[in-house]
Amino acid sequence: MEVINNWEFKLSAYRLALSTLGFDTQTIAPKDGSKYRNERHSFLSGEYYNILTDDTIYNRLLKLDKDSSLNKTDKRKVTLYLKNLKDTKSLSKEEYVEYNKLVLDSSDVWEVARENNDYELFEPYLIKLIEYGKKIAKKRNNNINAYELFLDDYEEGMTIQKYDEFFNLIKERIIPLLKKVVQKNSVNKGIIKGVYDIDKQKEFNKIIMNYLGFDESWSYFTTSAHPFTSGISKNDIRITTRYDEKDILYSLYGVIHEVGHGMYEHQNSDEINGTIFNTAITSGIHESQSRLFENYLGRNINFWKSNYHILQDYFPHLKSVNINEFVSSVNSCEPSFIRTEADELTYPLHILVRYEIEKGIFDSSIKTENLNKVWNLKMKQYLNVDVPNDSLGILQDVHWASGSFGYFPAYALGSAYAAQIFNTMKKELNVEDILSNNKFNLINDWLREKIHKFGASLTPQELLINATGEEFNPIYYINYLEDKYSKLYNFEI
Ligand code: ZN
Repeated sequence: MEVINNWEFKLSAYRLALSTLGFDTQTIAPKDGSKYRNERHSFLSGEYYNILTDDTIYNRLLKLDKDSSLNKTDKRKVTLYLKNLKDTKSLSKEEYVEYNKLVLDSSDVWEVARENNDYELFEPYLIKLIEYGKKIAKKRNNNINAYELFLDDYEEGMTIQKYDEFFNLIKERIIPLLKKVVQKNSVNKGIIKGVYDIDKQKEFNKIIMNYLGFDESWSYFTTSAHPFTSGISKNDIRITTRYDEKDILYSLYGVIHEVGHGMYEHQNSDEINGTIFNTAITSGIHESQSRLFENYLGRNINFWKSNYHILQDYFPHLKSVNINEFVSSVNSCEPSFIRTEADELTYPLHILVRYEIEKGIFDSSIKTENLNKVWNLKMKQYLNVDVPNDSLGILQDVHWASGSFGYFPAYALGSAYAAQIFNTMKKELNVEDILSNNKFNLINDWLREKIHKFGASLTPQELLINATGEEFNPIYYINYLEDKYSKLYNFEI
C-alpha cells in the first residue's frame, strides 16, 4: 500500500493547486483573464489525469484488489480508486482535457446567459454537455442507462428505481401537504421585511459562524455569485455567500448551510485528510450535514433563543417582532422559483422537477431542445408557479453548466437523511438545551463521532446504520414535514 499512499500524496498536491485555482476563478479572478486561465487550468487537469491513470499504479491496484490480507480500510480505498480509475480511463487524455475545457467554457457562458436572461446563448453548450455525458457513460458501461451511472457517482448505491420510490412518496405526501399550507396561508412572512445593511449582515453572519464553532483559524469566508464550500483540506475550509439588502434570510441561511458542509470536512479524521476518503464523500451524505445545520438546527426556535436578541440589536426594526413571530416567519412556506431560497416544504419539489428532466434526457423521453419550456411546465405542475423568465428558471443553477447530471437528487436525499439523523440526535442529546445555551460544540462532537470522522471510508448505508441504527428510511422526513407544517399552519393531517 505504500506505493499507493505516495501516489495519493502526489495527487493531493495537484488537487491543492487545481482547487485553489477553481476557488480563485469563482471568487476574485477578473473575467478578462478567463481564456488564459482556462487554458492553463485545462493543461494542469491533463497532468493530473496522467498521474491518476498511471498504468503501474493501475496494475498494482488490480493486484491489491485480489489481496486477501488487506485490512477493511485499505480494501475500501483500493475499491474506490479502482472505480475512479476505470471511469477516468474510459476517456483518452485528449477527450479528458477537451471535456474539462468544455466544462470551463460552459460555466463562463452560463454566467453571462444567466445575467442576461439568454437561454439561447447557453442552450448549445448544454446540449453538447448532455451529448458528452451520454458518450462518457457509454464508454464506461455500454449496458446500463447513463443516468444510473451518474446517480451512483453522486450517491453510492442509489439507482433510478430507488429514487423513483423516494420521489413517488414525495409526490403522494408532500404535494397534498403543500396544497393545504397554501390554502391556509396563515403565517405572516412579511413581518420581517425591511432593509438590512449588508455590512451589518456580514458581521452578524460571523457571529453565527462563531456560534456554530466555525473557526477563522481554519476557515475563510467571502462572497460569490453562487454560494459554495471549497474544502481545500481539513484545515483550509472556504465558504461563500451572496447578499440581498431586502432579505436577511437569503445570506444567513446560505451561510448556515455552507458551514454544515464545511464542518463535515473539517471534522474528517487527520488520517483521511487529502485521501480519497475525503474526496469521495457522497453528495447525499454531504448535503445531509448542510441541511441538518440549515433547517433542523438553524430554523429551530432554540437556536434563536441564543441569537435573536443579537439580531435585534443589529437591526432594531426587528424589536417590534417577537421571537415566536420571527421563527414562524423563518419557517413559513411559499412556492417560489429559486431552489436555493426555497423553504423546506417546497424544496424537494424543486428537485423533483430536475430529477424528472434529467431522467427524461438520458432515457430520451425528453428532447434536449427547448428544455427551458419543459422546466416551466413542470414548475407549474408541481409548485403551481408561472416562471417569468429563464434566469429564474432553467438558468438558475450552475450544476448542468458544469456537466453535473445526477447531482440534484442527492440534495433531496440529503434532506431526508438529515431527518433520520436528527431523529437519533434528539434521543441521544438534549438538543433544546444545547441550542438555547450556546453549547453547539456538543452537537459538533456528536456528529464527528457518528459521521464526520469517517468521510467515505464507510459507504452511505454503513454511515447511516452507524449513526442511526437503521438503513435509510424516508418516513422520518415525511413525518417531520407533515408534523412541522400542520402545527405551524394549524390543521389536521
Ligand atoms: Zn449544499
